[in-house]
Amino acid sequence: MNSMLYSSLLSVLITSAFFWFNLILGVLVVGGVLVFLYLRLKREEAHKRELHVQMGEKVRELHEVRAELEVCQKAAERANRAKNEFLVNMTHELRIYLNVILGYTQIFSKDRLSKKQRKALEIIYRNSEQLLLIISDILNLSQIEARTMEREEIDFNLRRFLWNIVELIRMQAEQKRLNFDTEFSPDLPKRVHSNEKRLRQILLNLLNNAVKFTKTGGVIFRVFPITHDSRIGSRIRFEIEDTGIGIPYKHQQNIFQPFYRVTKTLTNTEGTKLGLTISQNLAHLMGSDIQITSKVGQGTLFWLDIDLPEIAEDEETVETETTTNVVVGFKGPLRKILIGDDRYENRVVLKEMLLPLGFGIIEAIDGFDVLTKAAQHRPDLILIDLTMPVLNGFEAIRHVRQMPGFEDVIVVGMSVSALRQIRDENVRAGSDDFLSKPLHFDDLLVCLQRHLKLEWLYEQNQADDAEIALASTNSEEGEQDL
Ligand code: ADP
Repeated sequence: MNSMLYSSLLSVLITSAFFWFNLILGVLVVGGVLVFLYLRLKREEAHKRELHVQMGEKVRELHEVRAELEVCQKAAERANRAKNEFLVNMTHELRIYLNVILGYTQIFSKDRLSKKQRKALEIIYRNSEQLLLIISDILNLSQIEARTMEREEIDFNLRRFLWNIVELIRMQAEQKRLNFDTEFSPDLPKRVHSNEKRLRQILLNLLNNAVKFTKTGGVIFRVFPITHDSRIGSRIRFEIEDTGIGIPYKHQQNIFQPFYRVTKTLTNTEGTKLGLTISQNLAHLMGSDIQITSKVGQGTLFWLDIDLPEIAEDEETVETETTTNVVVGFKGPLRKILIGDDRYENRVVLKEMLLPLGFGIIEAIDGFDVLTKAAQHRPDLILIDLTMPVLNGFEAIRHVRQMPGFEDVIVVGMSVSALRQIRDENVRAGSDDFLSKPLHFDDLLVCLQRHLKLEWLYEQNQADDAEIALASTNSEEGEQDL
């Protein structure tokens, strides 16, 4: 009995011990797992915190880099603005001096000169014009970079425009003993509307290059319409082909990059290496694209197509064309012109252009002087430099317009700056017209004729008069002989 009791007690004890052992083991395992999970969570949180801190640092670094970049960008923009300002100022200064050189060349060309003197004068004139082109090149490039390139479109005579270009290039070709041929289609429109200056710049650059990179043979300049639409006008192709050194295929697309030159050994000729870059940019601005095909040792062909809307001939065209005769005076009463310019040389150039034609000239040295002299002399027309000290041209024009009796006096602003803002400001100030410097004598004459309604006297007329007088004397003599 007792042994049975013991054995059942023992089994109970063993069972309960086993139960407790299992329970404790279970608790320990679960606890272990929980501790493990807790520690892992903690570690992950710590890792997250660390990542957060690292991310914060990276973000801060990024902000710092961005701030530095912004500072650098602003500095670069400032430097670029300063460079563009410098270029504008420099080209402005150069144009001032060229105005005097070109002005005097034009004045002397009206004198009776020997053949040699006339040739020399022509060379000075052409070279000064070329210098002017280079100056505009530099200005253009900075304007293209600053995206402030002007789009100035005018009506012009296409054939006259082409022949002026040919004249410039022919001389260079002759100097290198190269042929220079032109093939201008008879179907070209006579008068067109486009950006004449830009087109001239592109063509001159391509033609200059053709002559520059050709040693034997020659250059052909072709211009012909490829399509014609009575509403839109003609699409004209300009081709410049040479028998020069040619451009290897792999270089053909790169030559439009700034400062790109094919090889030093092949072409060590002088140049800014900007010509094609500017030309291609200008062509794009005109809705075109310069194309090229070339074979080394055989030659190169550059071409571009430009839309040139045709303009009907008007009275003004006829008027302008007659000014190719030498003007020596005008019919009718004396006309007084007040020249307001702070630069002595500029006043002298204008005076020398206008005095021989019989105009009465009054000079003013700044804006205030313009007002005083205008009140004193009551001129018919005032030519006024827009960038004068003391009282600048714009202010002077505004004051003139408010002076009693001066509401209708003709005022023409002049400036060496080719910027659109200057012209717009000139109109806003109350000016009637604008002349850009360096002054071209013909432009000045057209402007005076238009505003003063002048009827010119030409050298031709005088010669005709003299011939008529001579003829009548001869016939009288003849009659007497009879
Ligand atoms: P530049 O004439 O001042 O060198 P451009 O931009 O006008 O600069 O021309 C870039 C380069 O393209 C020239 O240096 C020359 O190597 C090449 N090139 C241009 N036109 C011709 C041409 N008609 N024939 C051969 N090479 C040319």
